[in-house]
Amino acid sequence: MNKIFELLKQGGVFEISPKILGDKPMTKTEMVAIFNTLDAFWLYDGEPTSEKPHALLKSGLHSNGFISCNNVLKHPVLCKLFANEIVKLFEIEYPSEKVDVVVSSAYSAINLGYEVARRLSKKFPEIEHIIVEKDYENNPTVIRGGIPASKSVLVINELMTTGEGSTWQTKQAAAMFSHEPNKPGPKIIDKSFVLVHRSKDYNLNDGSEVIATFHFDIEDWNPEDCPYCKAGSKAIKPKIGNNWNIIHGRV
Ligand SMILES: [Zn+2]
Repeated sequence: MNKIFELLKQGGVFEISPKILGDKPMTKTEMVAIFNTLDAFWLYDGEPTSEKPHALLKSGLHSNGFISCNNVLKHPVLCKLFANEIVKLFEIEYPSEKVDVVVSSAYSAINLGYEVARRLSKKFPEIEHIIVEKDYENNPTVIRGGIPASKSVLVINELMTTGEGSTWQTKQAAAMFSHEPNKPGPKIIDKSFVLVHRSKDYNLNDGSEVIATFHFDIEDWNPEDCPYCKAGSKAIKPKIGNNWNIIHGRV
């Protein structure tokens, strides 16, 4: 049996280390199994029906899937494991690119960005991890102190839903925040890297490409256009009260 499934079966999710995978990329089935073990994954099973609820997101949109990266990335052992998967993709896309700074947004992508930088520090000992903080509208747009123009910056995110969301905002912030007033911003590595891609967009607002470790066909709708509501399914907030169990059909 596959070593990852073997460990999961024995309750050894935290024993899964990058060594087990080696150079081989983790498969989506392995990733889903790890996320399921940490109760971090839900997809609507089958056709829309009034018997099964669907998800009401913070944005007010309705959806047929929900992936809680935080449930997994809050564990350092697993954050390291998934950061390693991003680094594998980065090294394929940019085998000879130097990275001076990894940027990731507050709060959900902080650990992942740090772990990616830590992994890359083996190659680039002076690498920094810089957090893009949230502004008063809760968007990641603020970098304290800016980034010097001489630096080469890699953009990391844990989850991407749209081409104009936090991945784009993080990239834009890194480009805008020059270290010194009226000086150009740093060099941003064109492609951004995300762990979980639940988007139709593979490009950000500037047309640049996004490289995703794992892609899922999860959709979002305005309530009035939602096919699940039309089928009589109820929209519920997945992480409130007992809703996570309800949405999984466990109660
Ligand atoms: Zn709906």
